[in-house]
Amino acid sequence: HLDRIAAVDAEIHAFLHVGAEQALAAAQAVDDARAAGAPPASALAGVPLALKDVFTTTDMPTTCGSAILDGWVAPYDATVTARLRAAGIPVLGKTNMDEFAMGSSTENSAFGPTRNPLDTTRIPGGSGGGSAAALASFQAPLAIGTDTGGSIRQPAAVTGTVGTKPTYGTVSRYGLVACASSLDQGGPCGRTVLDTALLHEVIAGHDPRDSTSVDAPVPPVVAAARQGAAGDLRGVRIGVVRELHSDSYQPGVIGSFDRAVQTLTELGAEVVEVSCPHFTYGLAAYYLILPSEVSSNLARFDGMRYGLRAGDDGTRSADQVMAVTRDAGFGAEVKRRIMIGTYALSAGYYDAYYGQALKVRTLIARDFAAAYERADVLISPTSPVTPWKLGEKLDDPLAMYLTDLCTLPTNLAGTCAISVPAPLSADDGLPVGLQIMAPALADDRLYRVAAAYE
Ligand code: GLN
Repeated sequence: HLDRIAAVDAEIHAFLHVGAEQALAAAQAVDDARAAGAPPASALAGVPLALKDVFTTTDMPTTCGSAILDGWVAPYDATVTARLRAAGIPVLGKTNMDEFAMGSSTENSAFGPTRNPLDTTRIPGGSGGGSAAALASFQAPLAIGTDTGGSIRQPAAVTGTVGTKPTYGTVSRYGLVACASSLDQGGPCGRTVLDTALLHEVIAGHDPRDSTSVDAPVPPVVAAARQGAAGDLRGVRIGVVRELHSDSYQPGVIGSFDRAVQTLTELGAEVVEVSCPHFTYGLAAYYLILPSEVSSNLARFDGMRYGLRAGDDGTRSADQVMAVTRDAGFGAEVKRRIMIGTYALSAGYYDAYYGQALKVRTLIARDFAAAYERADVLISPTSPVTPWKLGEKLDDPLAMYLTDLCTLPTNLAGTCAISVPAPLSADDGLPVGLQIMAPALADDRLYRVAAAYE
């Protein structure tokens, strides 16, 4: 994999940092343990992985795709990083991402965009485009992403790979640099459903260091993937969400999704239509809640505690240094969201914006609960469009936000979802993702249906 990275990553730019020595040392340790007769640390011991650059690592930089953290090395490992190490999984390097996980194309990285390996004139999705591109270009067989509004699932969809957003609270956020704390969730990415399930079991589980960690057993995702692989979905009820199936989506995406529904029916599933009326307001609610949390979380980048400090020439006050540092260190999208969030949380507008958005969030969770009375899993396209050309939506943030509309409801409700490759789009031959959603702590259902479909 290191050879493959050396051969192709100059063009793809999936990695911000490659830790060749550290990866080889971790692989050697697995070999040594095997030679000494020790049992493998996990089913994935020795299988290398690409880690999104938003998880802290003591032996490589953590930048979150931001100039404000350029070169910063964390003093502690994230729980996810520690679990990977304990499982004997060598970390090849840290992958590119939209700055602080804000974006859907990886073009908001301060270190330049990642290209989609299937067509290098196109975006690899975002914010976890680096992790998905590493998989699709065979630079890594496994990857880790984070999904706040779709940043694992949408990159999987547009690169023809697999990615899961686990139930909120089931993968520790300790050492995951915060974007929006009530939405952020780390999760596994792979090229097959079973690989993704194996990685899911390594990283999930209760962590006392994360105050929102769920103290519940990890759902049996590997067993479910193996069960699903037999291809029998009799007795499984699948709901097609009416509000996530629209004439305004790219025709090739709808065509591909409809073929996936046909396949699920042929596998024996009972497919019904369900309605989640408040999903229509999901995008508006998300783009108030997320910036509100961002505006608070990113206050810690003050030029004093971490990374960049600019303009500290002895003539400026601490406040002025902070302003110069934040102006130099944050990119346009991050600044835009800090401003939106600060406005939405301000005393005069709090009830009108943030308060309303929280009410919508509750209504969306209720829509899900009602739909799961009628169906075991829900499905939709992962993204309403196939990967667009680099640069195409950069000047139009709203057009970029609109591509997130199928993935956001799951984050708002704290439930789980996976994206698996559906047939290529008939109108442009590009990848389409099938999104499968399930209730909180029913992540195993995702893997059963996904493995049967795959
Ligand atoms: N594209 C969404 C956003 O820009 C999702 C980001 C994410 O999941 N980290 O907010």
